[in-house]
Amino acid sequence: MPDTLTTLAPQQFASDNYAGICPEAWNAMFEANAGSVPAYGEDPWTRRAADALRDLFETDGEVFFAFNGTAANSMALAALCQSYHSVICSASAHVETDECGAPEFFSNGSKLLVAQTPDGKLTPDAIRALATSRSDIHFPKPRAVTITQPTETGQVYSIDEIKAISSLCRELGLRLHMDGARFANACAALGCAPADLTWKAGVDVLCFGGTKNGMGVGEAILFFDKALAEDFDYRCKQAGQLASKMRFLAAPWLGMLKDGAWLRNGQHANACAQRLAQGIADVTGVAPMFPVEANAVFLKGSESVLEGLRLRGWRFYTFIGGGARFMFAWDADPLRVDQLIQDIKKVSQ
Ligand SMILES: *Cc1c(COP(=O)(O)O)cnc(C)c1O
Repeated sequence: MPDTLTTLAPQQFASDNYAGICPEAWNAMFEANAGSVPAYGEDPWTRRAADALRDLFETDGEVFFAFNGTAANSMALAALCQSYHSVICSASAHVETDECGAPEFFSNGSKLLVAQTPDGKLTPDAIRALATSRSDIHFPKPRAVTITQPTETGQVYSIDEIKAISSLCRELGLRLHMDGARFANACAALGCAPADLTWKAGVDVLCFGGTKNGMGVGEAILFFDKALAEDFDYRCKQAGQLASKMRFLAAPWLGMLKDGAWLRNGQHANACAQRLAQGIADVTGVAPMFPVEANAVFLKGSESVLEGLRLRGWRFYTFIGGGARFMFAWDADPLRVDQLIQDIKKVSQ
């Protein structure tokens, strides 16, 4: 029976998207399922969810909901750019490596300018070098910078790092977008208020990930500068991102934000990453590739070590730098993390 198989399959840490829906999001969906309400976002759930996000971010910015992060990022960047503009990102940015050209597609051609950052973090120097490399009419005009918080390599930009990037953006006339697919993990890691990591540090637009935080589906797009959101509702509709039963994209946010589940989920996931990092700290033969600051651990090990883990049933991706990526979600079982630690020890002997 497929049901039994799913239940019995041991938990994997290949992706935080392997997790199910957390109870808070699930219950909010259930509540929103009562009765009928107007469609296309004209319902009380959507209004309340947008207000809850504005409260959390201490802002009166504009809030939109999209089905996934690729669409959220692409539409947000498209809103910042004309087709002849360009967007500066890091070489390992999801927009560059994992969105199938969607940012260029939705912006009708705004080109991504890729900075070769060894650890996945953009720096002011790298941004300046790309933004000032050309100023002639033959080169797409730099218009925006996108940073991922936390990065695809599981590292967190400090408030000061974000401020340094945003002040350079102001100097060069660039807008700053933040891909926050795991934004909750960054807030949990830094113990900072969402506002401190975003508009107070100079971020213009945030894509706030709900899916990896424990929802079934959905991301929120927050424009801190309302002027940038002009006609964004039309853009969402044209991109196929206007949910007709919008309440089911919106209501889970209410569940997540009501009493802090979003942050607890991030804290738990981060703690599991720390548990793994500490558990293998003195194991020779494996080593973390990047500082473990959020919910990811990338382990460098010989091919035989990685193969040994696969043979013991562990699933993981190696698409960043060839190491084994383990990514923890709200539902990660600490005992299962301990099993992973034991298996890493065994295969590293
Ligand atoms: C998961 C993720 C996204 C969103 O991906 P979708 O599959 O489109 O929802 C965006 N950015 C980063 C860094 C991610 O890890």
